[in-house]
Amino acid sequence: MPIPIRSCIACRKATNWRELLRVVEVLGQVTPDPDRRKGGRGAWLRRECLETAKQRKSFQRAFRTDANLSIDLLEKYLEELH
Ligand SMILES: [Zn+2]
Repeated sequence: MPIPIRSCIACRKATNWRELLRVVEVLGQVTPDPDRRKGGRGAWLRRECLETAKQRKSFQRAFRTDANLSIDLLEKYLEELH
């Protein structure tokens, strides 16, 4: 079985999806989906690329919106991993 490859939305680096965190957009919130089970459009991000994603507005691009997306949930999730 080939390993699924996904690209990080911030740096565009393609990698084994186990190294990426899936996030989905729920009511304007970028929401972590570590079990990869939530419906809807997913975006993939390396944990260390959060700052890059913020600077480049990668979430807006990935979710095809001009709206301001909150990343509070995502930041909280990543903080709690440490
Ligand atoms: Zn990246």
